[in-house]
Amino acid sequence: MSRNPNNLRRTFRKSAPKNNRPARPERAADTAPETPSTPFEMGEPVTDFVSLDLSPQLLRAIQDEGYETPSLIQAQAIPPALAGRDVLGCAQTGTGKTAAFALPVLDKLIKEGVANDRCHHIPRALVLCPTRELAGQITASFATYGRHARLRHTAIYGGVSQFHQEKALRRGVNILVATPGRLIDLLDQGVVDLSEVETFILDEADRMLDMGFIAPIRRIASEIHEDRQTLLFSATMPREIKSLADSLLKDPVRVTVTPVASAAPKIEQSVYMVGRQEKQALLHHLIDEHSIEKTLVFTRTKHGADKVANRLNRAGIAADAIHGNKSQNQRQRALDGFRAGKCRVLVATDVAARGLDIDAVSHVFNFDLPNEPEAYVHRIGRTGRAGATGLAIAFCDKDERSLLRQIERLTGTKIAATTELPELPVLPKPERQVESKPRTPRGGQQGNHGASTPRPPKRRSGGGGNDRGGSGYGAGGGQGGAKPRSRKTRSSSYGSRRA
Ligand code: AMP
Repeated sequence: MSRNPNNLRRTFRKSAPKNNRPARPERAADTAPETPSTPFEMGEPVTDFVSLDLSPQLLRAIQDEGYETPSLIQAQAIPPALAGRDVLGCAQTGTGKTAAFALPVLDKLIKEGVANDRCHHIPRALVLCPTRELAGQITASFATYGRHARLRHTAIYGGVSQFHQEKALRRGVNILVATPGRLIDLLDQGVVDLSEVETFILDEADRMLDMGFIAPIRRIASEIHEDRQTLLFSATMPREIKSLADSLLKDPVRVTVTPVASAAPKIEQSVYMVGRQEKQALLHHLIDEHSIEKTLVFTRTKHGADKVANRLNRAGIAADAIHGNKSQNQRQRALDGFRAGKCRVLVATDVAARGLDIDAVSHVFNFDLPNEPEAYVHRIGRTGRAGATGLAIAFCDKDERSLLRQIERLTGTKIAATTELPELPVLPKPERQVESKPRTPRGGQQGNHGASTPRPPKRRSGGGGNDRGGSGYGAGGGQGGAKPRSRKTRSSSYGSRRA
């Protein structure tokens, strides 16, 4: 890490106060002329952490992590955040935005002496985020950056018992990371008190809005006092985010590191024009051909994700699936297994498209193109992270061509298309799916007292091996011997069924 604090200068509209509690900056109306955006005045960009004036405990943690220079979002967002300004950040995950908000929060609490204040049991900072995975990841980042500071943080999210979360809250928490639904539950039960929150952070705000969290967000914001500092990060800036920001932020400094809806340049994109029925075999072929060890495959539906993962396992390619029907434990296990290299392929719905930071994902497959073109950008952003290069390969059947055009329009890129398919392997027949969760009976059918028994998997004739439904880590049936089928040109009859 460069240790010369003098090599960079930055000019703040308001310089950071030297006392422990940075005073809230005056409102724009008091200080600034009418301008549509309020750029934080910066001199030369900050290119080392030392010149950010962070606490020594944080600088040590940054050094432990091996970070040498602040990323662009950190260089732009940390100085105004440290100065107490509201920040509106347009940045995707993978840009280092977690540290961009975590470091100022930790710094403020360290300098206010909160770590040593045993009386302070109520959260001073609140991070709202859309998913439990992201909540876990953000908490882990606070633990990493705050490892030399004795601050308490915890994550609360739905899908698991609230018992341990409640216990952690009662023990005392300085930084609370939460998904909106569970936080509202706990607020309603009087288990959590937001009256002392000074810094309110909304991470992946666009995703939270997509998930219908607008009312919970407004409700939560109303529980936090008006004089708070608010940092809002979003990968995209649609009108709804702008109006949310207008209502929650005061005179924010706007920082943008990735042009809205643009894909990271280090990601090489291509698309196969392929029949729906050929997608699975093409996936197997490409995984083999490229000797892919770590790839994410995105499907549109949960059922589709299970099906793709099962068929990979049956062909001896260790895969797992992650989607909204899986329990929190199953999701975490799948992620841990994927991170640890126990399975080569993680098949996901868009629940995993954002926020997840998994190292060394070399390829992202869009097995199905997403209905929302923005989701494509988020999906492929799972590769090409932390400076690495990545390949994003999409499969487009004839029903998805308009989606492809929308993606190309949004990203302003013509994606290189392949219409000639390679020789594809013949795959074991798909096995009948066993739902991971019992389905509620459809209309007209009487439930068996609400308890539906999943059907056992159908036995395949001649099937040797370990053909379990669900998503184990191990290679499945080991069908091996998948014979190549000569297919020189693409089928003219694209399948029309949805996965
Ligand atoms: P995020 O966008 O917060 O999910 O961060 C993406 C990845 O970048 C994480 O693995 C971080 O550990 C890493 N990272 C964050 N800041 C830096 C930095 N300044 N230098 C190098 N890596 C970083």
